[in-house]
Amino acid sequence: MSQPDENQLTRPWVDWTARQIHDPVWRLRYLQSVAPVPHPVSRWKSRKTIGLLTLLALGLVAAPLSLRRLGAANAAPPTLPTLPMLPAPPKLPPIHLVEPAVAPSADVWSVEKASDFEAYSNGLRIENQYAVSNRPRAYVAFSMADAEGSGGEKRTDPAGIVYHTTESLQAPFESSENNRLKRVGESLIDYVRRRRCYNFLIDRFGRVFRIVKESDAAYHAGHSVWADDRYFYVNLNDSFIGISFEAQTGAGEASTNAGNAQVRAAAMLTEMLRSRYKISGRNCVTHAQVSVNPSNMQIGYHVDWASSFPFEKLGLPDNYAMPSPAISLFGFAFNASFEHRAGVRLAAGAMDADRALAARAQAVHLSLAAYRKALHRRYLKIMASYRVE
Ligand SMILES: [Zn+2]
Repeated sequence: MSQPDENQLTRPWVDWTARQIHDPVWRLRYLQSVAPVPHPVSRWKSRKTIGLLTLLALGLVAAPLSLRRLGAANAAPPTLPTLPMLPAPPKLPPIHLVEPAVAPSADVWSVEKASDFEAYSNGLRIENQYAVSNRPRAYVAFSMADAEGSGGEKRTDPAGIVYHTTESLQAPFESSENNRLKRVGESLIDYVRRRRCYNFLIDRFGRVFRIVKESDAAYHAGHSVWADDRYFYVNLNDSFIGISFEAQTGAGEASTNAGNAQVRAAAMLTEMLRSRYKISGRNCVTHAQVSVNPSNMQIGYHVDWASSFPFEKLGLPDNYAMPSPAISLFGFAFNASFEHRAGVRLAAGAMDADRALAARAQAVHLSLAAYRKALHRRYLKIMASYRVE
């Protein structure tokens, strides 16, 4: 009968302790810190151990291996005389967004509500004659402390706003074109209400039309990802309100043709919604910032408002400067077409997130491609249990 070696004795403790560390980077650091010193003649074995530890840390082989060893997932740890020390937290770029939330600037209240319009204390007027219902808003806000998305808060109030441009036919904005401008706007309203495209549409004259009721989801953001300093959100149709400008977005730094009346109306609408739902300024973002394509794991499938969004005029922080959460959390990439379509600020935010991703891959001794793959698996796992409409 042979004596068990030290590694066999401490292994259950190591596995159990590792399972308590939710962040994969910290988990890997811990596992590496307690890994046995490699024997000089068995380097292939040590590489295999590090590879296995990496996979364990990223949760790729955790279930079958650990369950066979330890029994049920919540089993009590075995008693051992010494507990290995956890390593100090690594000095790595944060994977979450740390900018403070910007509070709504003013309290806005309802002044008058008739069957076909609403008026608010900040000058906002909403036209209700075309409002339609859809399915009730319901979503999960995932905690940034649980990047695997195993739990989360179920919610029905919106957490943010996504701004769009309709990319529809545009007539010249001149008084001689008044009839045509009105006709084009009316046919656009008919189109977006039949398809439940947005919650609000702001026409060329700055009139705000309610399309899908605020309590209901609108089909405006499909596959999309965003995060604030505490939560991340996927598929924002339910979690974010959709506001669209009747306008077009040009490529690169080319500005949109959104007019002053539209910007003023959007500022009042944003102020009212932020006041009503306590929405953080960090969660007021454009479609180009949140859109992703899971079929090729690229960001920027939709690129409306990829530049020139008037954040400041809407009382919002410049969110273009934020690193893309789709890249940071789930390893999405971008190609030359995105760089061409995006303005300089949005492209710079994507590149920042990409550089931080490469640094994190290096810190856990993985190639960038392998690290991205592990993050893709995390995204696909969350998506497998999440409704997409
Ligand atoms: Zn859009």
